Amino acid sequence: MKLYNTLTRDIQEFKPLDAPCVGLYTCGPTVYNYVHIGNLRKYIGDDILKRVLKINGYEVKHIMNVTDVGHLVSDADEGEDKIEKMAREKRMEPIDLARFFEAYFFKSTDVVNVQRPDVVARVTEHIKEQVELIEKLLGKGFAYITDQAIYFDVAKFPEYTKLSGQKLEEKEIGVRKEVVVDPGKRNPADFALWFKACGRFANHIMRWSSPWGEGFPGWHIECSAIAMTYLGETLDIHTGGIDHVPVHHTNEIAQSEAASGKEFVKYWVHHGWLLVDGEKMSKSKKNFYTIDDVVKKGFDALAYRYLTLLTHYRAPINFTWKGLESAQSALDRLYEIASALPEEAEGVSVDYGHSFLDAVNNDLNMPEAISVMWELLRSKESEKIKAATLYEMDQVFGLKIREHAQASKNIPEEIMQLVKQREILRKQKKFGLADQLRNKIEKMGYILKDDKKGTKVLKKI
Ligand SMILES: [Zn+2]
Repeated sequence: MKLYNTLTRDIQEFKPLDAPCVGLYTCGPTVYNYVHIGNLRKYIGDDILKRVLKINGYEVKHIMNVTDVGHLVSDADEGEDKIEKMAREKRMEPIDLARFFEAYFFKSTDVVNVQRPDVVARVTEHIKEQVELIEKLLGKGFAYITDQAIYFDVAKFPEYTKLSGQKLEEKEIGVRKEVVVDPGKRNPADFALWFKACGRFANHIMRWSSPWGEGFPGWHIECSAIAMTYLGETLDIHTGGIDHVPVHHTNEIAQSEAASGKEFVKYWVHHGWLLVDGEKMSKSKKNFYTIDDVVKKGFDALAYRYLTLLTHYRAPINFTWKGLESAQSALDRLYEIASALPEEAEGVSVDYGHSFLDAVNNDLNMPEAISVMWELLRSKESEKIKAATLYEMDQVFGLKIREHAQASKNIPEEIMQLVKQREILRKQKKFGLADQLRNKIEKMGYILKDDKKGTKVLKKI
């Protein structure tokens, strides 16, 4: 299996430290707002990586943090804590707000069939580990204390920009404004490990006692502390969005390697952006969509998952509603073909099985894997082999193909009768009554899809 490693900037053969075990750390959400489809792209990408590792026989231990404190409005040290800011606007307690958006996050990742991590680690439940790591960095001389915060001293870590390949001078220009904030800071690129509950954070609600008085951790230290707690000082794979390279992951490497004296991560995997109609998603542009928005427009959540598989994970996706319509049609067609395949699937196709594995093992080439799937369905392989191979492929795609195929086969007579009655009512233009029947059918666990050919009945999956 081959993966592109951001650190070495090339595609490498994946060799875990302790096969068949693989330690996987993925940066989790900052739970201050509704997770949107751009965020979900990353979590689907992580899920694909995990599933590909599993079909290669690896035993994956997957850890993800949930940032419920400490992520400031900028990814660096500027501005307010995102959660506290939103909590004030919504007149909620910060912790209640964080739990609300965390629940929304998992509801959203569940509907796009992302497997849950083995460990979900909330930052507020790992303060002790972060304090210990900061103490270690202070003890080794990599960090220093000012009146307002504790900073990592980047001058002490010569390889600071090895992940981004940026020059430190370039980075300094980007953060220069910020030197004004804390006069005790030595270098503009130094980043906060701990904020003291004083000055601009005097009213910070979420705070913990520490050897340096009350305060709260910076954003970056949480990932290092949590990752090393569960996976040891060197991890096999760490993932994140491409936007995490120059600041968040750069800082994670510096503080982890300074503390342990060992390499922090073997393979760095980064997912590309999602643009909407060619633009960055934002609330002000009114192009900010959640998976609920997608479902409300009549699409399957899994059609969005399918759409993301059509672009390589490192390339940007330009999301359009037209693109999603095509993805939905393809998915409908796929379910339709699958429902006509025999229930007893046996014998995976050697040719198509190999081509599929070659594609997914070549730096997760999902667009290629999807086209291999369609070639299989058009091929002369027997129906039983097609079924078996398709279900095998879906271990990676995660499109619930088998469940959909089976669900549309055995619709109970009682439901079919109601569907017929509804059709009669519709012909008589009694739409109110027809809608009441639709609601009744949906409450019984079935979905109706009307198109030119008539009404399709599917079991809710
Ligand atoms: Zn992180």
